[in-house]
Amino acid sequence: MRRAHNSVWILGDQLLRSHPAVLAAEAAAGKDSLRIVLVESSASVGRLPYQRKKLVLMLSAMRHYAESMRAAGYAVDYVRACDFTHVLRGHVRKWKSSSLFTMAASSFQARRLQSELSANLGVTVTVLPNTQFLVESFTPFPDPQPDKRYVMETFYRQMRRHFSVLLEAHGDPSGGQWNFDAENRKPLPKDYKLPPPCFFPPDALTAEVMEEVEKAGHGVGTVQGFDLAVAHDQAEAALDDFIQNRLADFGPYEDAMSSRDGRLYHSLLSAYVNIGLLEPLQLVKAAEQAYRADKAPINSVEGFIRQVLGWREYIYWQYWRQMPDLRTANGWAAKRPMPAMFWNADTDMNCLHHVIRRVIDSGYSHHIERLMLICNFCTLAGINPAAVSDWFLTFYVDAYDWVVLPNVIGMGLNADGGQTATKPYIASANYINRMSDYCESCKYDPKQRTGPRACPFNYLYWNFLLKHEKKLRAQPRLGPAVLGLSRIPAPERRKIEQKAERYLGRLEPYRGYEKSTIKPQLK
Ligand SMILES: Cc1cc2nc3c(=O)[nH]c(=O)nc-3n(C[C@H](O)[C@H](O)[C@H](O)COP(=O)(O)OP(=O)(O)OC[C@H]3O[C@@H](n4cnc5c(N)ncnc54)[C@H](O)[C@@H]3O)c2cc1C
Ligand code: SF4
Repeated sequence: MRRAHNSVWILGDQLLRSHPAVLAAEAAAGKDSLRIVLVESSASVGRLPYQRKKLVLMLSAMRHYAESMRAAGYAVDYVRACDFTHVLRGHVRKWKSSSLFTMAASSFQARRLQSELSANLGVTVTVLPNTQFLVESFTPFPDPQPDKRYVMETFYRQMRRHFSVLLEAHGDPSGGQWNFDAENRKPLPKDYKLPPPCFFPPDALTAEVMEEVEKAGHGVGTVQGFDLAVAHDQAEAALDDFIQNRLADFGPYEDAMSSRDGRLYHSLLSAYVNIGLLEPLQLVKAAEQAYRADKAPINSVEGFIRQVLGWREYIYWQYWRQMPDLRTANGWAAKRPMPAMFWNADTDMNCLHHVIRRVIDSGYSHHIERLMLICNFCTLAGINPAAVSDWFLTFYVDAYDWVVLPNVIGMGLNADGGQTATKPYIASANYINRMSDYCESCKYDPKQRTGPRACPFNYLYWNFLLKHEKKLRAQPRLGPAVLGLSRIPAPERRKIEQKAERYLGRLEPYRGYEKSTIKPQLK
């Protein structure tokens, strides 16, 4: 006769060293009566043709985690199945569990499933606050009124104060300012030299997962060249490498882009922090410590902390504030399907070609390339926001519902009525030319608007302003660009519109979804 157990369900993106559900179950009835369950769900993996490197990362990290918990003396059931509820029902019956502990999911859909678990399983279910997001422990939680604008800067300063980060005596900000963005917008010098990348050759378990993913044939990109961290000690080594070798130059060049290298001085830690191999406060404290030890200047340290304690938390907060409507938000009524070039990098626009190629191969591009190249293009070309978010969810190694929807639909496409960002992040080729070397070897001319070699970013940008002139005039932050429209003579306006129409008419849509059984979440 089996003894009654307490079950702990650990989700695949919650691989925390110190997991609140394990701690709570252990405190309730001791380690011996505790059984951990991890589920590899084929339904989750199969919803979109995900980046193969992401599949390897997730599956290998989950399997490494199960091993490490077993090594720490926990009983772990590792199950491969289709349906979470079905597995958990079987688990609680088999082990006669009287209760199940779990940590609140980061995504809306999984949290709904958790809220129905008790009724579905017939046991007490305790859902603990999610410790992967600092804002969850923030009391009082920033104003959640849906009709009120709450800008990131205000949110970020509250977070700095609440968690006592980069503060001096009397609560003054370190370095005398809250924000060093003005020092952090430099293009790269011609002769920049990067520290060598930090990578982790696959061990036997990871190699096995790579073979499995390859054989399954599902997904985009390739498993070849997989070199990501899959366990806590490796992710911590990656953090350490960033702090030692790249943090000091992170600030000045965080917006720069280069055809030579996609990573530059970025941390490449998002994939790890999003699945619990690292925790946000660990990143923040490590950066602050580097500043206190005089190893990195304030503009770089503040710039990095702003990303983690500011943007990451603000994005998560926006997700919960705007769901479920965010998924279908389409503030600019954009209807065009995602172009095929996003699946094969087959475009003569040099900047997009390089970045899409990298994303297909590695599942990574840095923030400004996501925002000012990919989303900028999709906004100007009028691509449907749900199609753009599905593309991001498909291709990036760090992509999850909570982070993609507000970043893409809110910030990148400004389709949420300006709740995430107060203005659309759109720009002509001038910005790309200033911040990168892409234009130097491009067939288009970043300075031409309607000439024979005009860069598509230019006429699409002006076409967008013309098309939405009335709405944009009401947006104070885009005012100067829109006011300039009245100086464009009618024939030039017509040329812009014609060039844009011709270009957009030639954009071949991606038809892969129609051929496959996998359906995007287009509504
Ligand atoms: C259109 C668009 C889509 C994005 N999609 C994702 C995504 O799928 N997954 C993801 O983790 N981030 C996403 N981001 C945010 C950001 O671009 C990535 O977190 C960052 O590029 C990851 O690279 P890194 O680790 O080298 O970051 P760094 O430049 O080194 O920044 C440090 C850390 O800050 C955090 N961070 C910074 N900005 C954001 C942000 N806006 N939202 C959330 N976290 C942030 C990340 O954890 C990141 O690791 C997106 C941003 C945009 C504009
Ligand atoms: S000219 Fe235009 S398309 Fe070419 S790299 Fe520059 S911005 Fe991109």
